Amino acid sequence: MDRKKWYTRTSEEAVQFWQTSFTEGLSSAEAKTRLEKFGCNELAEKEKPAWWKRFLAQFQDFMVLVLLGATLISAFLGEYADAITILVIVLMNAVLGFIQEYRAEQSLAALKKLTSLTARVVRNSIVQQVPARELVPGDILVLEAGDKLSADGRLIDVHNMEVEEAALTGESTSVRKVADRKFSEDAPLGDRKNMVFSGTNVVRGRGKAVVCATGMATEVGHIADMIQATTEETTPLERRLEHLGKWLVWACLAICLVVVITGVTRGESVFLMCMAGISLAVAAIPEGLPAIVTVALALGVQRMIKQHAIIRKLPAVETLGCTTVICSDKTGTLTQNAMTVRQIFADGNHYEVTGSGYDIKGNILLNQQPLDINKNKALQQCLTIGVLCNNSILKQNTIAITGVWRNKTETGWCIEGDPTEGAIIVAAGKAGIWQSEIEKVQKRVTEIPFESERRRMSVVYRDSNSNNILYVKGAPDVILELCRYYHTDAGPTTITNNHITQINSINEQMTSAALRVLAVAYRRLTPAQAQNPDEAIENDLVFAGIIGMIDPPREEVKISIALCREAGIKTVMITGDHKNTAIAIAQELNIYKENQHKTLTGKELDALSESELDAIVNRVTVYARVSPAHKLRIVRALKRQGHIVAMTGDGINDAPAIKEADIGVAMGITGTDVTKEASAMVLADDNFATIVAAVKEGRGIYENIRKFIRYLLACNIGEVLTMFLAALFGLPMPLLPVQILWVNLVTDGLPAMALGVDPGSPNVMQRPPRHPGESVFSRGLSRKIIGRGIQIGLSTLFVFSVIYYTQDDLAVARTAAFATLVYCQMFHVFDCRSEMVTIFELKFMTNRYLLAAVAFSSIMQLSVMYIPFLSAIFSTVPLSVGHWVFILIVSGWTLLVNACKQIFKRRPARRTTIPQSR
Ligand code: ATP
Repeated sequence: MDRKKWYTRTSEEAVQFWQTSFTEGLSSAEAKTRLEKFGCNELAEKEKPAWWKRFLAQFQDFMVLVLLGATLISAFLGEYADAITILVIVLMNAVLGFIQEYRAEQSLAALKKLTSLTARVVRNSIVQQVPARELVPGDILVLEAGDKLSADGRLIDVHNMEVEEAALTGESTSVRKVADRKFSEDAPLGDRKNMVFSGTNVVRGRGKAVVCATGMATEVGHIADMIQATTEETTPLERRLEHLGKWLVWACLAICLVVVITGVTRGESVFLMCMAGISLAVAAIPEGLPAIVTVALALGVQRMIKQHAIIRKLPAVETLGCTTVICSDKTGTLTQNAMTVRQIFADGNHYEVTGSGYDIKGNILLNQQPLDINKNKALQQCLTIGVLCNNSILKQNTIAITGVWRNKTETGWCIEGDPTEGAIIVAAGKAGIWQSEIEKVQKRVTEIPFESERRRMSVVYRDSNSNNILYVKGAPDVILELCRYYHTDAGPTTITNNHITQINSINEQMTSAALRVLAVAYRRLTPAQAQNPDEAIENDLVFAGIIGMIDPPREEVKISIALCREAGIKTVMITGDHKNTAIAIAQELNIYKENQHKTLTGKELDALSESELDAIVNRVTVYARVSPAHKLRIVRALKRQGHIVAMTGDGINDAPAIKEADIGVAMGITGTDVTKEASAMVLADDNFATIVAAVKEGRGIYENIRKFIRYLLACNIGEVLTMFLAALFGLPMPLLPVQILWVNLVTDGLPAMALGVDPGSPNVMQRPPRHPGESVFSRGLSRKIIGRGIQIGLSTLFVFSVIYYTQDDLAVARTAAFATLVYCQMFHVFDCRSEMVTIFELKFMTNRYLLAAVAFSSIMQLSVMYIPFLSAIFSTVPLSVGHWVFILIVSGWTLLVNACKQIFKRRPARRTTIPQSR
């Protein structure tokens, strides 16, 4: 790609060179051709090792290598059958391990794709969202605050645009961008203010740029050490298990050594005992535990995607289950973000607006009568400001009513952009006022964008007589403070105390009725002011009216909040909206109860010291009129109280609070790239209910991890104990090396994996959150593991010794012990499905994978016992019906006893209902 120094040239030159158009952009066909020519807009990734290398890595485990070495020796000694069998089992184990790792990797890669960046570009004359990897030189990028740049571009239009380029230049203060200047050739990167660079973030304003470099041709592509490195993220649980694994290795090795030494002193062959010891070590060391945890996490993450929650950081899955507070934005997350203007107040008149949603069917009524807009000048002015100070587009099917043409096929009316602004367009449309019509005589000069902190937005328009007019809309309390005049049907007059009192009381009325309220105002500007617009010109305004719109709560959220309460999770609403509006919605959703909870506004919060805030933070469920900076204080205060906080956010300034929260949650639809990058989880549908679904899933995943840890470790203890006790009591070896390896293969692999996908127990949300520091073995799990391990070991040894001493046939006794060990584990796996209810109360068919895994393992076991060729290899002999009855009773009785014990012990259903103000 051409490396022209675009910062030394005009934007027109760049547009011309790349044969594109400022307004129309590239055509789809041209973009496709260029994508083929220039390649995908991606940085070269480190090449992954080939699949066979990763397969070979399965044999890197020390004990497996020792086993392979020993097998080689046995082959030299002429034990070919044994050597081949061991080799086959080790190979099958490796395949299983490889498949597990591959599945985990695939689902994580799919996740990465889901969270990859998109960009807004003009193509075929319309603004559209495309995957960032499909950007090509010549694309016209549409940029706004919160966007992360994914290509280098020459700016062609800017409005108060500032970009933070620390990723590239190390400079943390943002750079104010320009479009109409050129810079000298030796200007350093940070001074090329007419350029935007891949990897940097737009922090203020908006603008457009023509893409000049993509992929490895970008500035970031030239910095070798910044090339994407795939860092593997491990979760705290994985790390803890890895640590435990190391500890278990030594314990197993010590026991195996005892088995070998006692066997040899009893006169067994040294080689046979060494093989048995090594096989036991291979079987008993739970080296696959961290891998299965990863698989369980990755599969859980996939299930979450189906529920619209995209996990960006794997550790979040674990933390989700510990969440004690969810702090949620109101607009769009708790509410539908489908706004409809209901009331308008202008020049003393109270207007009602009929109709619903974004359909322009409806009327504006005064005293319940339709009106002539031309006779209601104040209302006309109010709506005119509303549609001009507006960046949203109303669309019906394929046609855009107030903007450019769109080619998306959508039925009915919908809004592209901010729904608050969309609702105003619709209300104005009902009175026949359209932005496109007004813009035939007035042209937009510039804009001071809406920011949550400012709670207002302004635009400057110039009419055909070169008059410059500033139109402002925003929160009424903010706008009123900037007003000196009051608009009437006859024109502006000085604002009086009466006006102010009336405006405040109307605002109070509307907000108490759960309406979201905006005020509109305007003023004339001098040419100098229009030239250099900044916040200082938002003064001496003429107050033009108030617009109140309804944004109903989401129905499903009510249920989710009730579920949270049952699960001991508190819901907190944090909104920039008016306190009354917030309380009205919070009451409807059962987040706020008058005598039980408190509300705080941003101002009240500012007046509190940290300790004062700490004293009340547990009782506050509604924070209103807060700005993103307040969110950080709220998160910190809640964390100081020991809470595990999930916090939502969408705007760029929410990023610090999202980072600080234990679970940062970004909005998938309205969220900015920067917020998404800071988050641990993205809500594809911006819905609060999705957070709760993810918490439920997170709890379920953790339960599943406990299930297979319980299963695997108890089985391994059983195996080791069988061999250890036999050695201790001077019994012959109850299992041969190949048999031990086989047990490990048929029991550890598929059944354990099937437990990892067990559907969560129905009551996971009826328990309080787990403490994040809690050990995975807490709540009696270690007792269960050890107890069951001993049961398995003793049962196997019991069957072995009874048959050995009564029949005096070592082969039959070994075969029976072999079968008992396997079937004890097959029964045990069903017990592991729940820690609360018995297997008889769990719906049997809800985990078909487990049934299939157990059936498969059982068939495999029967094959090595009854297929002559295999039984020769595994030194097994056919068992009689009597033997089988004995084996099944001994293997299965614990299942029955445990179920009875659980029913007997069960106290009256324990439901933890934690009040909202904890
Ligand atoms: P949240 O999403 O956090 O629940 P919110 O969307 O209600 O909050 P903000 O978007 O910060 O909060 O809006 C705060 C106030 O700013 C609103 O109550 C409204 O009066 C005003 N406002 C909202 N959107 C706009 C806009 N596009 N232009 C001008 N003013 C706006």
